[in-house]
Amino acid sequence: MKQIVIISGKGGTGKTVITGAFAALAKNKVMADCDVDAADLHLLLEPSIRERHEFRSGKTAVIDKNKCIKCVKCVDVCRFHAISKDFIVDRVSCEGCAFCSFVCPVGAIKMEENVSGEWFVSDTRFGPMVHAKLGIAEENSGKLVSLVREQAKELADKNKADWVIVDGAPGIGCPVIASLSGIDCAVVVTEPTLSGLHDADRVISVAKHFGILAKLIVNKYDLNLGMTEKIGQYCKKNNIYLIGKIPFDKNIVEAMVLGKTVMEHKSGQAKEAIEKAWQVLQKKLK
Ligand code: SF4
Ligand code: SF4
Repeated sequence: MKQIVIISGKGGTGKTVITGAFAALAKNKVMADCDVDAADLHLLLEPSIRERHEFRSGKTAVIDKNKCIKCVKCVDVCRFHAISKDFIVDRVSCEGCAFCSFVCPVGAIKMEENVSGEWFVSDTRFGPMVHAKLGIAEENSGKLVSLVREQAKELADKNKADWVIVDGAPGIGCPVIASLSGIDCAVVVTEPTLSGLHDADRVISVAKHFGILAKLIVNKYDLNLGMTEKIGQYCKKNNIYLIGKIPFDKNIVEAMVLGKTVMEHKSGQAKEAIEKAWQVLQKKLK
């Protein structure tokens, strides 16, 4: 079984379009959406949820008003000003350090685990998908990404799947690192702009740092042929395999408006180029 992640140094490069297309092309696979802060793969794959689980992470102080003797010690020690004068903990400001619970003379403060989000196992028209939703203003998205990856791998092992196709988190932070761990290949999607190349270079450096093979796709390559040429030179210089150049094609937009992957829409240049990139990737990973 091979695990591949589709990533980009930033959002808006067409990462989910490519992930959706690969999900349509790959046989016998499990999908994982690791963009837990702003998941959008579900818009294309329309999952029907079959399992729903709470994601617990971090702790928040909770004051038992019946025990509290109003000594104000907790208010004084909380450097995050999370406890109000009438001894109510603001869940957003509380950092879960538990200092207040240590200083409380009557044991009125308990640290309770937060429900920070949910994760799901769903059925889609292309097979099973593991995905998640982090609650508003919640942290630990890296931990949730790791959980989604773990569950997708477990499901793939159980189903004897050939592929785990992961829609990675954007950027280069903790969720991306969690998306990359244990991956066989990272497919970096970029666009032909200077900032696109800069962002791709940053995320490729992160992948390299963890010893992960990175390959590149240039999306909308024909919108700036000069920059596409520079990206090609960058790939040669850094020994990165350019698996595909996808032209700008309004069929991609049409497919998205219809809630379909480009592979399910009418033929066009982009569809052909993505299919070719998938074939190249399969060969390279054999
Ligand atoms: S756990 Fe820490 S951050 Fe939260 S209320 Fe207590 S002292 Fe403040
Ligand atoms: S430290 Fe304990 S007893 Fe004192 S105000 Fe806070 S909760 Fe109440």
